Amino acid sequence: MRRPTTCARFLIWLIVILGCLAAGGAPVARESAQSGAPAERHSVWVHPPEVGRDREAVRAFVEQCRRAHIETIILLVKGMNGEIYWPSQRFSAAVVKGYESFDLLRELGAAARPHGIKVHAWLVDFVEGLNSPALKAHPEWAQLNHAGGTTGTETLGKRKRPYPYVWMCPARRPGYTDQWLLPMIEELAKNPAVDGIHHDYIRYPGDVAPDSFCFCDYCLTHIPRYAMLAYETRSSERYDVDVRQERVEANWWTDPTMLPSTYSKAERRERADFLLNGRTIPGGPPDVRYFFYDYRVEQIDRFAREVHELVKKVNPKLEISAAVFKNPVQSARFIGQQWHRWNEWIDIYTPMTYRSHFAGSFESYLDHLEETTRRQLEWTRHGRPLEAGIATTYLYREELQPFEDMNDAIETLRDLQSSVQDAQAAQRQLNAAVYVLEGASGDARQAREMAMKRLVAAHDRLQKRLAPLAPDTAKTLAQLVKAAEEASPEQQATAVAGLSAELANVRADLPPGFCPPEKLARAIDAARRAKPDGIVIFAASSLKREKLWPALEKAFAK
Ligand SMILES: [Zn+2]
Repeated sequence: MRRPTTCARFLIWLIVILGCLAAGGAPVARESAQSGAPAERHSVWVHPPEVGRDREAVRAFVEQCRRAHIETIILLVKGMNGEIYWPSQRFSAAVVKGYESFDLLRELGAAARPHGIKVHAWLVDFVEGLNSPALKAHPEWAQLNHAGGTTGTETLGKRKRPYPYVWMCPARRPGYTDQWLLPMIEELAKNPAVDGIHHDYIRYPGDVAPDSFCFCDYCLTHIPRYAMLAYETRSSERYDVDVRQERVEANWWTDPTMLPSTYSKAERRERADFLLNGRTIPGGPPDVRYFFYDYRVEQIDRFAREVHELVKKVNPKLEISAAVFKNPVQSARFIGQQWHRWNEWIDIYTPMTYRSHFAGSFESYLDHLEETTRRQLEWTRHGRPLEAGIATTYLYREELQPFEDMNDAIETLRDLQSSVQDAQAAQRQLNAAVYVLEGASGDARQAREMAMKRLVAAHDRLQKRLAPLAPDTAKTLAQLVKAAEEASPEQQATAVAGLSAELANVRADLPPGFCPPEKLARAIDAARRAKPDGIVIFAASSLKREKLWPALEKAFAK
């Protein structure tokens, strides 16, 4: 072939560059009729009770979504306790009662499809309940900490509440991932009502200590193997660092044996300690944990890749979306979720840029939401559509705080109830007393008085907002608070229970305006300033509770 002239070479170069820009510049998206610009995508996370349990209810729910210009319904089909909401034959023990006979996915799919609304099947990936069928059948699939306990042995918060979920090991094979989760996803991918698979909890635990999992037998062996900290051939031969360079870490490539010869015989606690606090080079920094973090990232990456391969093999048209933490660089370190490198395996990112993940005021949230969304698009290099995730409830931290405070005081009063029956209850009472008094005196009577004071103060704050909007509701609540306050120690439990039930009723059905709709509109506008591909709202249930569907209809109509 004749060599191209300089001019021709320039033209070829120009065509290649333009081609790259056209292919990589913007993800494939629908175009809005008027402007020709890609239309903003709209999605909502939905819990099964919101959809209802009969055909009429399902249609009404889809109609609500249609009015709000929602194009994707992300329906929970596997929850935090490992419970599932489709009539699976293979996983029949996990099916929630009532959903064996009512095929929720089929009904929702049938109602949604004629309107062009897609249904993504939302799975809480690696979490199971304390008594779930998967855990009962295979306790060895659970993640373990250095003491050999599951996440169910951990406690949370200042009151040391038992953590009620068990995280399963993503790494172990055969194990939870390939024997339980992937087969479930295959079933869903083959379900004609499903348009996509939605990952949630596609990570390691974050609120129970991030550096505590997983040290199961499989991982204790496979973390050093993954990083090849020792040879498997001639495994008894050990090599010291050959010190040729002055800087001690600079000798890492002299092939020292990084895994201590005693490792395989050591106890779980010692091996976990080496993996977190060990040094690859004697005299160097404690850096073995780098491999621990990298291994965790690798396990979650591997799962994302396997799901992609499986789902696209079943049906290449199916979409895969993922709810991810706001900062992929930090979540790689803390929860093994390095999601900005998932462009190959994820079709749509739905990062949870909820206000609960930001510390400041509402105004500062708006700025940080915009900035974070901008950074997420940078991190993913605009490689896949990204929908900014907004949770309505947390927007109303100020308005809803009195509910939180009242519930907190109620919970404390329950723990402090005078008739303590067993050792566990006694421990709860002590924890609650220490929590309220912020000290170790643990005096239950004094703590009760203090908790009641907090309850009354929070109630006063709630009344200021509630009374003008719903005077009758406010009055009923005030009477119940008074009754709890004046009850004798023997009657207090009943009075507090009555108050708690009424408070839950009020919270479940707030008067319109209690949660100002303009805050939702402003949050959506703030996210929009970063030019994401869409907006995803958490969740249908809170839109209903907080009376925000009309505001969403307006915001998404723009
Ligand atoms: Zn493990």
